[in-house]
Amino acid sequence: MFSEFALHERLLKAVAELNFVEPTPVQAAAIPLALQGRDLRVTAQTGSGKTAAFVLPILNRLIGPAKIRVSIKTLILLPTRELAQQTLKEVERFSQFTFIKAGLITGGEDFKVQAAMLRKVPDILIGTPGRMIEQLNAGNLDLKEVEVLVLDEADRMLDMGFADDVQRLVDECPNRQQTMLFSATTGGSGLREMVAKVLKNPEHLQLNAVSQLNETTRQQIITADHNQHKEQIVNWLLANETYSKAIVFTNTRAMADRIYGRLVAQEYKAFVLHGEKDQKDRKLAIDRLKQGGVKILVATDVAARGLDVEGLDLVINFDMPRSGDEYVHRIGRTGRAGNDGLAISLICHGDWNLMSSIERYLKQSFERRTIKEVKGTYAGPKKVKASGKAAGTKKKKTDAKGDKKKVAAKAPNKRKTTNRPKADAPSLVSKDGMAPLKRRKPAAPAAE
Ligand code: AMP
Repeated sequence: MFSEFALHERLLKAVAELNFVEPTPVQAAAIPLALQGRDLRVTAQTGSGKTAAFVLPILNRLIGPAKIRVSIKTLILLPTRELAQQTLKEVERFSQFTFIKAGLITGGEDFKVQAAMLRKVPDILIGTPGRMIEQLNAGNLDLKEVEVLVLDEADRMLDMGFADDVQRLVDECPNRQQTMLFSATTGGSGLREMVAKVLKNPEHLQLNAVSQLNETTRQQIITADHNQHKEQIVNWLLANETYSKAIVFTNTRAMADRIYGRLVAQEYKAFVLHGEKDQKDRKLAIDRLKQGGVKILVATDVAARGLDVEGLDLVINFDMPRSGDEYVHRIGRTGRAGNDGLAISLICHGDWNLMSSIERYLKQSFERRTIKEVKGTYAGPKKVKASGKAAGTKKKKTDAKGDKKKVAAKAPNKRKTTNRPKADAPSLVSKDGMAPLKRRKPAAPAAE
């Protein structure tokens, strides 16, 4: 129960108003420590309730009578605008019975309007590193009196190339008394370095991935012969599954556009989100999805970051995500707060080993599902190793019993499916997103 936390009654009133009854695991673990002023390193995914886990203790610290604000007391940095906007909303909802004011600084918004907001000095400043630095350079931002610093989705900020900006902003807060760093994954050496530099004797709370996968979400795989076959399966699922909102994940922009085009042609109300869409498109897509006018979103991982849409109960992985953490991130969008969700991954020959390594990582076995109306010929490898990966896929062995012929006959099909375009590399696929084009030089991952 939230009332067991030593939170101010006005915050408990807001919590009750929002119908939060039971704290989520990350809230139960982080709130008491954050209230004590401890530095925290928390590994927890979006959707776990981590925002409230840091926002409530921050508000508790700031709560008091109405007064003239003279300095920014809390800085919350996040990787994307949407995440920043959602965090602002969460702060406003929890602080509705207090005098605490929060402000937002993100790219894509009017610079001068932001500068005017900064002159009024919010208690809590929320934003993305790039625009924060611009405001800092323009002399509009003073962070010297910041007491609490939050780096949310720190792993994403590093992935997106914000390491230097984040470090500079951290250095601008020399008087901070508490720092909390949240990441969806345990991260690599960059994150470890940041943790060592930024946190003082932190408590590490690990509530990520495996333990946080929503138990109410069923996870299934459906095997497919090739991308066109996957499209048929997607069509069947969208037409026959019971869902209120669905998201279809692809690894490339080209494929996202292709699927979106197909859906629109069938008069589905859908939206597509990927790195080439501008802020207006993204906001419109998310608003429509939230309002329920649009039921289907086709998205790449980066575009879907920070997305928090209620009632999203069907996730289709057209392409398998590239890591277990990414999988958890995608699936974490459904089955939230105890609602049932369904996650379906479409698996071609070339996806099998990735799928099985994700199963191993999650220590789970996905339910194998067949839909007779759209059943193909591929049904998984004939033989699997103990690891679950396909046996004997490395090299086509010349088998004394003439199996070579069989393998050779399958080869064209196999090539089609194993040549999946690399992550975010639309330049490697033809316009229809199917036939791989000749690789000219290694494609740099498109920044999304
Ligand atoms: P977050 O992981 O912070 O993005 O939160 C995901 C969603 O869960 C948000 O819409 C929150 O408002 C909601 N949420 C967070 N904590 C709780 C809770 N204890 N009870 C119900 N809903 C919650």
